[in-house]
Amino acid sequence: MEKETFQMGRAWIELSMDALRHNVAALRALLPPGCELMPAVKADAYGHGAALIAGELSQLGIRAFCVAAVSEGVALRRQGIQGAILILGYTHPEQFPLLAQYDLTQTVVDYDYAKVLNSYGRPVRVHIGVDTGMRRLGEPCGDISRICEMFRMENLRVEGIFSHLCADDTENADDRAFTLRQGEAFWKLVGELRRHGCVCPKAHILSSYGLLNYPELGGDYARAGIALYGVLSTRADGQRCKADLRPVLSLKTRITSVRELRRGGAGYGLAFRAARDSRIAALSIGYADGLPRALSCGAGSVLINGLKAPIAGRICMDQTLVDVTDIPDVRAGETATVIGTSGSESVSAYDLAEQTNTITNEVLSRLGARLEKTPVQSPPEFVVGPYGISARRAVKNQYSRK
Ligand SMILES: *Cc1c(COP(=O)(O)O)cnc(C)c1O
Repeated sequence: MEKETFQMGRAWIELSMDALRHNVAALRALLPPGCELMPAVKADAYGHGAALIAGELSQLGIRAFCVAAVSEGVALRRQGIQGAILILGYTHPEQFPLLAQYDLTQTVVDYDYAKVLNSYGRPVRVHIGVDTGMRRLGEPCGDISRICEMFRMENLRVEGIFSHLCADDTENADDRAFTLRQGEAFWKLVGELRRHGCVCPKAHILSSYGLLNYPELGGDYARAGIALYGVLSTRADGQRCKADLRPVLSLKTRITSVRELRRGGAGYGLAFRAARDSRIAALSIGYADGLPRALSCGAGSVLINGLKAPIAGRICMDQTLVDVTDIPDVRAGETATVIGTSGSESVSAYDLAEQTNTITNEVLSRLGARLEKTPVQSPPEFVVGPYGISARRAVKNQYSRK
């Protein structure tokens, strides 16, 4: 296949499907009775590659997915993904024909939107979004008559109703009380609707943190995203997480050139200054691939031969320099690990998130479309590249130094 010639060429994501399967089992063990996973595969499955991830999840018996945008639903269908696909966000009326054409389920983001969707004139599957406190999308849960009206709209096939928790990630007492009130308001509404004859098959309110921290809130689906990919938003959350989660993604790149730097600077603005005789390696990954530019000038490091190589100077759009002065035997053509493990060292999505003052969700979901995605046997230790098996030598080097 022609695609293969690009695999692992310059910068790529390795997906441990073992880790994904493990996380699915770990999260399924926490599901409340009658609840199934509805994985969030929006933003290209948080940067992992939606088609590969959804394909693997389908094999594990997952029958429902959620995405943010109609284009994401269309892309999954074109890749052959079956089952329900719920669009969590707004779809513009010009794109309504795609809903039927690709059998996608649309969220009703509020009462006015329900009328617009209904006036399209053809039947659409919908889940009604309900606002229980986040104040983002969803019809406010107080006005039951307007929600009942949606059930009676001729072209809306109401198959579900859901809400989203917005303070379910802390142990703070106020947040706990708020979250429990959200749950209460949601289930009270569902009960009242039923008494008014407005019955829909599915009701759901949990996402990753909800499932971990409030499984008692129940529902027919848990819309798990970040946890499924084996991390939580912050390291502290990950450390107190009751599920044993394993990161699915590693990010690798190629060393393209190694050069000596006796004195002076390197990179844009000559922002790297050699304080000693140095060796600098160029990597074929940059901020356009989703490597945050805020990792420049030593804020972040990559792993080469099981050792940390600090980022030297400013990250470029397509390339990055690293300081390999303290790492013996660095050669062009070999691999550097940006997220993942090399020898006994590792760099995690938590590290990148902390170094750039954000959460793992942002770091992962911004990994660019230019990165190849490839499933690997875990542990993803041995990488076959155009220059041979590179990581094998890395491991050997590591032992010879000890
Ligand atoms: C993104 C999203 C999810 C998934 O959230 P995670 O915290 O990643 O599990 C679930 N529901 C809605 C409405 C979302 O927008």
